Amino acid sequence: MNIVIFGPPGAGKGTQSKFIVNKFNLHQLSTGDLLRNEIKNKTQLGSEISSIINSGELVSDKIVGNLIEKFISNNTYKNKIIFDGYPRTLIQAKDLDDLLKKYKQKIDIVLKLSVSLETVKKRILERQTKEKRTDDNEEIAIKRYKTYEKSSKQVIDYYQHSNLLKVVNGEARISEINSEISGLIDAIKGWLWRIWTYKY
Ligand code: AMP
Repeated sequence: MNIVIFGPPGAGKGTQSKFIVNKFNLHQLSTGDLLRNEIKNKTQLGSEISSIINSGELVSDKIVGNLIEKFISNNTYKNKIIFDGYPRTLIQAKDLDDLLKKYKQKIDIVLKLSVSLETVKKRILERQTKEKRTDDNEEIAIKRYKTYEKSSKQVIDYYQHSNLLKVVNGEARISEINSEISGLIDAIKGWLWRIWTYKY
């Protein structure tokens, strides 16, 4: 099963992805982590994208598309991916469908974590002291939230139309979010299993 986890910065996508990875034996694909690794390793790509990331804007659809294809095309991860922070634009959502189709896969569920701007600010400031991310300060947090608001509606509509979207209250306690997400994934797994047994 492939899962997309969607939401603004500070919504808890990373925390919930790690929980899902452990519970359902999946692999986390965080485009933010992949991009930060490029910067950390001082690659050519890293030097091109660092100012974009530090300004709270989005890196081009083409760059992130290339990064995720390396992952999707790897058989180790086949049908076992949780996409964390991808897609973020309508073009990326369509690119993801095309790429998954190319490698004979699909998305089974899209989990949207909803949180307010106030919560985002609070969580990002907490994270800033722990992780020391260069794009985590209040000003850039607001910019990143606005960037999210600008491009997210089309992505949400896209997944609503394909009946994949499930909205989760990201303001709840971590344990409550964990159990809500588990229930949603278990339900999809049960449904996929019934389809599979019906076919074979
Ligand atoms: P994240 O760790 O997901 O919050 O991402 C950190 C930053 O990396 C974002 O603010 C963007 O600049 C960049 N980034 C991560 N994922 C994407 C994506 N799917 N498309 C474009 N830019 C991205």
